[in-house]
Amino acid sequence: MSTGEVLYEGKAKIIYRTDDPEILLAQYKDDATAFNAQKRGTITNKGQMNCAIATHLFKVLEAAGVATHFIDQPNPNQMRMRAVQIVPLEVVVRNIAAGSLCQQTGLELGVALSQPLVDFYYKDDALGDPLLTRDRIFLLELAMPEQLEQLRQLALQVNQILINFFHQCEITLVDFKLEFGMTSDQQLLLADEISPDTCRLWDDTESDPDRRVMDKDRFRRDLGEVDTAYARVMERVLAQNIYVS
Ligand code: UDP
Repeated sequence: MSTGEVLYEGKAKIIYRTDDPEILLAQYKDDATAFNAQKRGTITNKGQMNCAIATHLFKVLEAAGVATHFIDQPNPNQMRMRAVQIVPLEVVVRNIAAGSLCQQTGLELGVALSQPLVDFYYKDDALGDPLLTRDRIFLLELAMPEQLEQLRQLALQVNQILINFFHQCEITLVDFKLEFGMTSDQQLLLADEISPDTCRLWDDTESDPDRRVMDKDRFRRDLGEVDTAYARVMERVLAQNIYVS
């Protein structure tokens, strides 16, 4: 399949059109950004590692009945996917307090939440992706009440599947961000990527609070060994069967 024109270039991926209007190609990059792109860098081999991890996780989710945009991985750093119109909401699911939840609520890092928390953010770089309330989502007409409930339920379903999968990898899923999109025939699909760029992942075999970090927090917080942490996630994820028990 020949790659067509660049449809969109984001912080971590370049999205190309293909000769089929219903199919797009994502090229995963080694570039890393944090704090709304104020911090920039590269992580050696990140493109290939995130593409491999996201591919495997999309297969896990598909096998468990979640509809995703994933089609296949024609090259190590490339993913083919169904073309969708992205819903401008970032859906964050949290199991353990970290990051902005701690900053905004005073909860201590590492506190287990009594039930998963689903937060919606406005996907708008110029506004700095602000946290939304339900009423603001309706005010901005970003989703109807039924769609919002559907997104919440899908996010919780994905959370349960991924918690179980990562548990088999001896990894704790702290929190993660999802994006969804609509196909031309109005099918809602899980989109974007799921990788150490978009999840907080803690190594169950490490007790030290810095050493256990296996995700982009190593880059955000200058903890070092970012690429080796991503490689460790990839190794453990790819070693597991896609059928979660
Ligand atoms: N996240 C993301 N993209 C964003 C913001 C957050 O992938 O633009 C992920 C982040 O990696 C973490 C989760 O969503 O796994 C929750 O992030 P949080 O709101 O705590 O923000 P942060 O502390 O990353 O600024």
